[in-house]
Amino acid sequence: MSDCLFCKIIDGGIPADIIYQNDDVLAFNDISPQAPVHFLVIPKKHIATVNDLQPDDAELVGKLYLAAQKILADKNQDSYRLVMNCNEQAGQTVFHIHLHVLAGRDLSWPPG
Ligand code: AMP
Ligand code: ZN
Repeated sequence: MSDCLFCKIIDGGIPADIIYQNDDVLAFNDISPQAPVHFLVIPKKHIATVNDLQPDDAELVGKLYLAAQKILADKNQDSYRLVMNCNEQAGQTVFHIHLHVLAGRDLSWPPG
């Protein structure tokens, strides 16, 4: 999608602090970190929200979690939070699905 910020990061049109990628997913540090470790894992395929996921995307969604798991292991983090916001009321501001990965501090519950 030409007007999607995260598609532009995937295409290299906008720089990002990329920490991992494979054929299907890309991970980069969040520009406004909310924890000592805060990165995003996104699919290279544009999907606007979780509501837009299709049954064929099931494996791709699993790959987001497996990428997060690998990166966290490389960072020696075994306690963390994975969050995917869906739509404005839940705080979604970029409409290309992304898994927030937060670690490195105590994380309270429930979130705000
Ligand atoms: P959300 O509010 O759940 O849609 O999350 C969007 C996230 O993208 C926020 O945590 C932003 O700080 C982050 N973000 C926005 N622009 C960039 C960028 N250019 N590079 C890295 N992270 C970004
Ligand atoms: Zn996109």
